[in-house]
Amino acid sequence: MDFLIATHNLKKRDELQRILSPLGVHVLTADEAGVDLSDVDETGTTFLENALLKARSGCKESGMPCIADDSGLCVDALDGAPGVYSARFAGEHGNDKKNNDKLLGLLENVPDEKRTAKFVSAVACVFPDGRECTVEGECKGKIGYAPKGEGGFGYDPLFFVGERSFAELLPEEKDAVSHRGNALRALADKLPAYLEDTKGTETL
Ligand code: IMP
Repeated sequence: MDFLIATHNLKKRDELQRILSPLGVHVLTADEAGVDLSDVDETGTTFLENALLKARSGCKESGMPCIADDSGLCVDALDGAPGVYSARFAGEHGNDKKNNDKLLGLLENVPDEKRTAKFVSAVACVFPDGRECTVEGECKGKIGYAPKGEGGFGYDPLFFVGERSFAELLPEEKDAVSHRGNALRALADKLPAYLEDTKGTETL
């Protein structure tokens, strides 16, 4: 079954596709679905609110079931910042280099034991008949002292689980422990019941 995903981030698209493929879910970006999906203002104060805003809007615009993820990094020494502002932490939306530089600057004098952080992912799936399914996932780690690794995106080069940063992990290694992996596995557990309900009521 085709699902629209409300993201322009192709790395996120790939992560979603890898994890949901076993369910027979095929994800399409707005471009791939031929839908004009304008950016939704992420006005929510929680990851879940923002994920729902994006999924509801995508479903309404396209008439397709829509999955949206809202995610970010919560750093303990910064009282949970950047949190829902992760993408625009340094002011400019999605500038990973500036965001990482700002984070390193703020943590300059923070000792190892206080560099704890977690990634959080909220995923919402909204169906054209109004049903909504939401899940959340987390991954705990630590913020390093310098970027390491070439893979991934966003804060991956600074986020360490054990000795390696997320940017040093193979995609499937990241999926196995990541916040989005955990959220999507929870979604994968819930979705079959929703897909079963859909059978016979709609042609999707
Ligand atoms: P969103 O697209 O509004 O959910 O913003 C998510 C932001 O959080 C991204 O721009 C990244 O800065 C950060 N982020 C979320 N997930 C990850 C991840 O898996 N790795 C690195 N950074 C992430």
